Amino acid sequence: MRGISPTAGIELVRQQIVRACRDAGRDPATVTLVAISKTFDAAAIEPVIETGQRIFGENRVQEAKAKWPSLLARHPGLQLHLVGSLQSNKARDAVAMFDAIHSLDRDSLAQALAKEANRQARRPLLFVEINTGAEPQKSGILPQEADSFIAACRDRYGLAISGLMCIPPVNEAPAPHFALTARIANRNGLRLLSMGMSADFETAIAFGATHVRIGTAIFGSRSVST
Ligand SMILES: *Cc1c(COP(=O)(O)O)cnc(C)c1O
Repeated sequence: MRGISPTAGIELVRQQIVRACRDAGRDPATVTLVAISKTFDAAAIEPVIETGQRIFGENRVQEAKAKWPSLLARHPGLQLHLVGSLQSNKARDAVAMFDAIHSLDRDSLAQALAKEANRQARRPLLFVEINTGAEPQKSGILPQEADSFIAACRDRYGLAISGLMCIPPVNEAPAPHFALTARIANRNGLRLLSMGMSADFETAIAFGATHVRIGTAIFGSRSVST
């Protein structure tokens, strides 16, 4: 653990976002902070809600289902985003629970999400995850397949795609990955860019990120790996 509290952590992150926006000539209102609360319990999350944070992200449906219903009941007006990979058999729960899904990464999931969105008449914001580093162990659509995948989501499944998400390879400079993601979004007419985590969100903002997903810099380091 580090020395500062989540409430101090999020205040610092907010200041850094404002500064990064100023450096990039952007309006801070165009950057949405998604506080990634995975592995942290309600006692850690609630003080962050009290600071006015309204958007939280989780990477597992099961964990979110266990943890969030009571928090959502106590704090109306929160939004929950799914940032981790999603099994098709959890599409029903995911559509029911999340306001945004950042990890649409394959055809079968597009199909499952379309079916649930229609069945439940719910339309979570959808981000297609791009595997910008073409890493074999990582999920996401390869950059060269992105245009056709996005078109198939729209045309075959009737899914409105709002944006793209990426997670740059750990040992590489993130900037080229953010730039590539922004180019793919731009040529497909997609407005939203989910990119930037604790280590690289300022760079992501310089490349047009609209959603930064920040966990560690708010809540401290996680004791279990996810
Ligand atoms: C955990 C996670 C984050 C937050 O990462 P930090 O480095 O802790 O800020 C962001 N995005 C995804 C997809 C994650 O799984």
